[in-house]
Formats: sequence, structure tokens, C-alpha cells
Amino acid sequence: MSSWQALDDEIAHWRDAGRDAELWWRDDDAADASPALDRLLELSVEAAVPLALAVVPAQATPALAARLADMQTHDGFVVDVLQHGYTHANHALPPDKKSELGPHRPAMLVLGELGTGRMALERLFAERALPVLVPPWNRIAPALVPALPEIGFTGLSTFAARRRAEPVKRLLQVNTHVDLIDWKDRRAFVGHDAAVAALVEALRHSRSATGEPVGLLSHHLAMDEGAWDFLRSFVGKAKKLPGVKLCSARDLFASREARV
Ligand SMILES: [Zn+2]
Repeated sequence: MSSWQALDDEIAHWRDAGRDAELWWRDDDAADASPALDRLLELSVEAAVPLALAVVPAQATPALAARLADMQTHDGFVVDVLQHGYTHANHALPPDKKSELGPHRPAMLVLGELGTGRMALERLFAERALPVLVPPWNRIAPALVPALPEIGFTGLSTFAARRRAEPVKRLLQVNTHVDLIDWKDRRAFVGHDAAVAALVEALRHSRSATGEPVGLLSHHLAMDEGAWDFLRSFVGKAKKLPGVKLCSARDLFASREARV
């Protein structure tokens, strides 16, 4: 029997402090309609948990747009679309880690691609597409970040604890913290205990230091049955746990404007 005790204990600290723990869910690498995408969307609808889909603009198909539009009509549930780079191509050479938005190409070229991608997503997904950038491999050259608001982005989402809520003016960062896949070893599910431990650690750090929302990261095209089981179990658990607030990307990335 898998245990959620550590999560229950951490959330009890939030309740004691009179605070809600904000959780959100991002899934990366969407480009086309597929059985795995159907499975993901069904899980989100069934549990009525908001989902943010990071879509690769240069590969995004009308079939994906139709699948999401169809869902809105039939299920009354809205999925937010975030921008996952442009082509998701790696431009780094070993030993550098993989990166599409790294320092390996001229900034003007990279920013031009991001702008083109932004227009492609708006064309396909209309208001469902949020001006939020999810860099492939969660990496972006620091020098590019100040230019993001200038080309229309209001949000940035990478991985691990954020250093600041606003890395630059007019850009809100909301990250993910729990990756369900162990990419280095077998590209398999990290395991229930490791996933819960990462979740608890991220919540503890948020509670004591950053106050940031904690994000779960899934990859519908790469998950094994263990990861799917955990995802199902997680959304069921999070829904029922008092003191946990499941947030949509739309609300999280808009909250800064609402507060000002
Ligand atoms: Zn990706």
C-alpha cells in the first residue's frame, strides 16, 4: 500500500498556519492528438483538475486544436495552453546540457522564433493560449529573460524552486517541482515514495521560504503505467485534501496583475 502520510503531515502545517497550499499541474511536449493525450485529458476532466498543456508551436497540429476545442464544447472543461519553446530542437553541443533557448545562437534569432511560435499558438488555440513560456528542458539563457516581456510574454515556467516571483519586471515565474519521470535512469516513473518526497520537500520550501505554487510535471507521451497510476492517485488525493488548492495556470499567471 503506497503512503501519502508525509503529504498529509506537511499539509497539516499549512492548515495550522491558516494557509492553503497551491498546487498546479503542467504536462509537456504536446503537439498532436493521440491516444496518450486522450488519456491525459480524460483524467483531467474526470477529476475536474485544471491542466496546463505545454505545446510545441512548430509541431502543433490543427488536430490538437480541434481536440481541445471539442473538449470545451462537450465536457465544459478548459485546458490552458502554454508555449513550449518553438521547435523543441537541441542547439547545445556536449558537454552542455540540451537546450533550445540557450546561449548557442544569436538572441535575435531565438526571440524571433519565439515570436513566430507565439503567433502560431494564438492562431490555433485563440484565447486558450496563454503568453507563458515553458523552455524545453526547462532551460533558458539568463540573457534572454529580460526580452521576454518585450515580445509579449507575461509568464515563465521552468523547474525547481524559483529565485524570485518576478525575474524581471512584468514577467511572473511559476515553476514545476515534481517530475514523474527519471530521465537519466531508464526514463521510467521515479516511484511513488520519491514523487511524494519531492512534493513534500517543494511544499516545505514554499511554506518556509518562497511562498510559490508547487507544480507537478507530467509527460503524457513518455509515461509508463507506474507514472499514470501515480498521476491518477495524486489528483484524487489532492482533490480531497483540505488545505490544498488546485490552481489553473490561467489563475496563477493572472494573479499578479489582480493583486497590483
Ligand atoms: Zn519538452
